[in-house]
Amino acid sequence: MSLNAESTAFRSALEVIRAVEPRVADAIGAELADQRESLKLIASENYASPATLLAMGNWFSDKYAEGTIGRRFYAGCQNVDTVEALAAEHAKELFGAAHAYVQPHSGIDANLVAFWAILADRVESPALKKAQVRQVNDLTEADWFALRRELGNQRMLGMSLDAGGHLTHGFRPNISGKMFDQRSYGTDPATGLVDYDKVAEAAREFKPLILVAGYSAYPRKVNFRIMREIADSVGATFMVDMAHFAGLVAGKVFTGDFDPVPHAHIVTTTTHKSLRGPRGGMVLCGPELADQVDRGCPMVLGGPLPHVMAAKAVALAEARRPDFAGYAQRIVDNAQALAEGLLRRGAKLVTGGTDNHLVLIDVSGYGLTGRQAEQALLDSGIVTNRNAVPQDPNGAWYTSGIRIGTPALTTRGLGASEMDTTAELMHTVLSQTTPGANADGTPSKAKYVLDPALAETVSKQASDLLAGFPLYPSVDLG
Ligand SMILES: *Cc1c(COP(=O)(O)O)cnc(C)c1O
Repeated sequence: MSLNAESTAFRSALEVIRAVEPRVADAIGAELADQRESLKLIASENYASPATLLAMGNWFSDKYAEGTIGRRFYAGCQNVDTVEALAAEHAKELFGAAHAYVQPHSGIDANLVAFWAILADRVESPALKKAQVRQVNDLTEADWFALRRELGNQRMLGMSLDAGGHLTHGFRPNISGKMFDQRSYGTDPATGLVDYDKVAEAAREFKPLILVAGYSAYPRKVNFRIMREIADSVGATFMVDMAHFAGLVAGKVFTGDFDPVPHAHIVTTTTHKSLRGPRGGMVLCGPELADQVDRGCPMVLGGPLPHVMAAKAVALAEARRPDFAGYAQRIVDNAQALAEGLLRRGAKLVTGGTDNHLVLIDVSGYGLTGRQAEQALLDSGIVTNRNAVPQDPNGAWYTSGIRIGTPALTTRGLGASEMDTTAELMHTVLSQTTPGANADGTPSKAKYVLDPALAETVSKQASDLLAGFPLYPSVDLG
């Protein structure tokens, strides 16, 4: 029997790798086996298509292509130009954006590019103006000193980490919290929702240069039209980081006020989360910021990753197909089914549910910390990650939350009834786990007690559940 193209491709690749360093080939094979067997509920992960994966393993990896199309610092970039232009074209069409910059190596890099573009566009700095018109050599030491002083200490208002914002939105341990004079907005303590009046009030008081919206752990939609009005009312540049929910925008689940692209001055994203592409980042903007954004390399980034841009072009082409909209809708339907299943069994959810791809369980309702819950679930074959809840008493390390998301399981084909089973398995583990104690008898935030027989039973049930939904069904490694 002849093998299909995907199986042949991956088998051959592993054979070639195995001839040089067999342990790497083994680890790659083991990774597929592990992913196939685990119930992956990590909200930021997904499974890219074989075509997307294969587009990354080739000669584009060998090419330097600093600069942008038509303005390269290296010769011989014609094929890189082709894939970069294709990725940008697909991105613009998919999201209805005027400009797309597809070079960022990751979401964080995309945010740094956006921050630089906004600073360069907005900061009134005679020294910076000189530097921009390529009179860099005319700048005196005093100009450079002024430039650093003027660029630093600019104001950023973003969502706080414990309300679901991302560390690059001004969290102090991140560079964004050090280079910017930063303030954050949280969520309403009673409802867990963004309080737009409070955001407007903070903006009026603080007068930020940049207002950032977007999140990694907020289970609801954000009204970007209102956020733009707030930004406009104080003269701020409005930036949306859609890293988590780009797939829902691409699939037209988030439209109108909830689609960031028509409302934001600049939008950043990853390409590997709900968008289901290769690991990477992207910036979308209007014509006003396009030139500054295109200076991302070499201003902020090193040479682009042409093999990843090739894979971005493939994944974005996939996201433009009509069936991607169905996928995006199923992500949200599944998240809601999972939330309902958990609620029905007595779990406590931040905001009481979800209208996107993720659910945040407040596991203090089970008497556990996020860390205890995460490990107990992992012992039971369920992969999640712990996450702070708003005003978390256990801080960002131990936390009180478990964040779960449905993009990956939806790619595998699981639906509402499997989500109910998943909720049942999670509730079983969480309700049967108890906090452990330290050697001196004091309560531990990390240790926990879970009957290993129960963990094994649940693991078996999880793998039975997955058996009906093979991961990469077209790939047989033999
Ligand atoms: C994941 C994420 C990022 C960072 O993406 P990386 O590719 O890991 O650098 C940035 N912003 C938000 C909102 C995210 O969720």
